[in-house]
Amino acid sequence: MAQIKTKKVILDPHPSLHKQSKIADPKSKEIKELLATMRATLKEWEEGEKRYVSVGLAAPQIDEPWRVVLIRSDFNNYEKREFYALINPEITKYEGAPIQDDESCMSVHGVHAKVPRYPKIKIKALDEEGNEVKFTARGYEAKVLQHEVDHINGLLFLDRALSEDKGGYFKEYDPKTDSMITLTQSEVEKRGIFNR
Ligand SMILES: [Zn+2]
Repeated sequence: MAQIKTKKVILDPHPSLHKQSKIADPKSKEIKELLATMRATLKEWEEGEKRYVSVGLAAPQIDEPWRVVLIRSDFNNYEKREFYALINPEITKYEGAPIQDDESCMSVHGVHAKVPRYPKIKIKALDEEGNEVKFTARGYEAKVLQHEVDHINGLLFLDRALSEDKGGYFKEYDPKTDSMITLTQSEVEKRGIFNR
């Protein structure tokens, strides 16, 4: 079997991160190959990454314009590198009061911000075989799913991040001190992180 190719994870402000993705057909050769490429890319990315593990990946993050996401199967055991696929996922219901929590993204290198997400959602999607799946996600999985579904709608967590005056923050990893430093409002504005 031919070696499965990997692709580069693109970074903001790449224009492909800000577009609506297209409806995908899980039975097509193109989407089957895309899923293999996404899994191989995640493996390669994690092997080269010291500080982070990946909890999910959306096709636009490797510059593929499809409504396809991979979600980590087990958030309690990161040794297990397994990801389940959702094709054309839709959030059909949001429940509970949004919780503000720290968030980051493989396509926004090193930056963290505080983002409100719903604690419980209902999802409708197709699985890899093309069967319809419907389920309820809670807590951390719900947060990851909201982040990944945003990607296929051309949104990044930065688009939903709370500004400083609303109790939010922007932090960035500083390799010199190996710690997270809080960015000042003027630094955030200068770099166009928030004013999008
Ligand atoms: Zn992301």
